[in-house]
Amino acid sequence: MALKKILTEPDPILRQISKPVEIVDDTIRKLMDDMLETMYAAPGIGLAAIQIGVPKRIIVLDISKDPEKKEPMYFINPEKIYASKDQATYEEGCLSVPGQFAEIDRPDKCHIKYLDYNGNPKELKAEGLLATCIQHEMDHLEGILFIDYLSKLKKSMITKKLSKQKKELERIVV
Ligand code: ZN
Repeated sequence: MALKKILTEPDPILRQISKPVEIVDDTIRKLMDDMLETMYAAPGIGLAAIQIGVPKRIIVLDISKDPEKKEPMYFINPEKIYASKDQATYEEGCLSVPGQFAEIDRPDKCHIKYLDYNGNPKELKAEGLLATCIQHEMDHLEGILFIDYLSKLKKSMITKKLSKQKKELERIVV
């Protein structure tokens, strides 16, 4: 397994629409292993492949709070087949929008179909935190970030702040 660099806003790659995975083979499984390791190291509870620069429709998640008991979840080509009218609000952050948080409303429940780690078709009924995480990660596959749901003013403040941080990071004095 290998740690990958997580891309951050405003990197244009994050705005790409990811492509479906055609065959779930060892290359895809290796990618998912790397994604999971990168997510745990960050640390985060969800990661989409595009966040490490790979435009494939793959998500990994682990919302278990206990670091001793890891419960990784893998979703390949996830599709939403139901979303509740009821909304839930969580304060969301994102590994690609470091240090920024905002309250976001999303459907409280969603059902998805997807392929698992071995390429088998599965369905999942999610609610609460899991539903929010899945929907946040599925947005990444469409090139959408949680800050896109904020007002233009708030979003541009965040984007400017992150651009400035990036410049400072790249600046070296020797
Ligand atoms: Zn995210």
